[in-house]
Amino acid sequence: LKIGVPKEKWTNERRVSVTPAVTATFVKNGFTVQVEAGAGLEAKFRDQDYIDAGGKIVDAAAAFQSDIVLKVRQPMDNEIPLLKENATLVSFLYPAQNKDLVNKLAERKINAFAMDCIPRISRAQVFDALSSMANISGYRAVIEAANHFPRFFTGQITAAGKVPPAKILVIGGGVAGLAACGQAKGMGAIVRAFDTRSAVKEQVESMGAEFLTINIEEEGGTAGGYSKEMSQAFLDAEHELFEKQCREVDVIITTALIPGKKAPLLILEKHVKQMKPGSVIVDLAAESGGNVETTVPGKVVTVHDVVHIGLTDLSSRLPTQSSTLYANNVSKFLLSIGEQKHFNINLEDEVVRGSIVLNNGTSMWPPPVIPVA
Ligand code: NAD
Repeated sequence: LKIGVPKEKWTNERRVSVTPAVTATFVKNGFTVQVEAGAGLEAKFRDQDYIDAGGKIVDAAAAFQSDIVLKVRQPMDNEIPLLKENATLVSFLYPAQNKDLVNKLAERKINAFAMDCIPRISRAQVFDALSSMANISGYRAVIEAANHFPRFFTGQITAAGKVPPAKILVIGGGVAGLAACGQAKGMGAIVRAFDTRSAVKEQVESMGAEFLTINIEEEGGTAGGYSKEMSQAFLDAEHELFEKQCREVDVIITTALIPGKKAPLLILEKHVKQMKPGSVIVDLAAESGGNVETTVPGKVVTVHDVVHIGLTDLSSRLPTQSSTLYANNVSKFLLSIGEQKHFNINLEDEVVRGSIVLNNGTSMWPPPVIPVA
């Protein structure tokens, strides 16, 4: 079977779905790997590196004409006709938001797997590209914030005077939020965090950060460990907490998301006005509507003397790292489905069933809900 690796054509997308190291693994498992010329360049992988690993360098049409096409981003409209009928496509797809795309893929009788729909169970952690990318975004959010912050993060005692450490608030303690806590702490800042799920307290504290609380009894975690929409009373209490924090902290990193819903609005313009001049906000939820009223998705803007970073391509800003982890996730997922001679789509497999969106063009999404034990 032939695996195709097209160059990602989305604006500002620097990742590639397969690295030279993963090419070698596929070749060892009997696949032919066809990489579009220049596909890895932005991630610092040269065409020669893929050739040395046993891959072939081809044009875009040949990469798309493969039996299995591996991508990071969903295909663009003009790429869909390049796919062979009955081919297998694995990429981020977000089927709930991209119904039109799924219909177009169905017309071409594609087998489509969404990396964003891999069930978040222990066995599938190795395939979990959402977590891999969130980890990178959380790290990069802190780096971006430090780059715009006019002081040190760490405290210092120097001959020229005492420098206080920066105070950082992280809202949302999922994968990205915890990565941000760890990175900010590592850079010497005082870190505080808040989440609606009580299980996050221990995780935040293990990163060396303080867990903030509010005086209202409402659990934000579902039985499956995911977050849910909170009551208005809870959100009002959160606003009160964050208004006070805005007066104290120098940097806010927001990462609060609720699967399948618009991101909760947690920092209002009136709160931003309370922040010190030169403070920085990074809104990692910008693409899903934003946690901060004054963020502009995709942009860095200054509002009320506070720098707002609404960039939506943070994982792509570390393209070698994100491509390496994504390629590991996607290759391990593909090889779990079968080696080249036995590439059978087994719908009894919980991970396959959870992530398959189309089976030879037939809609398989959403998967049946499996009750949590
Ligand atoms: P996410 O990106 O969907 O959300 C980020 C965080 O925002 C969550 O922790 C959520 O509780 C929080 N949040 C939502 N509304 C909020 C509000 N109003 N105020 C403050 N915080 C709010 O989350 P994620 O990083 O994708 O993962 C969430 C959880 O999923 C993990 O912590 C873990 O329990 C589970 N998970 C399991 C696996 C696995 O077992 N394979 C892998 C990854 C994640």
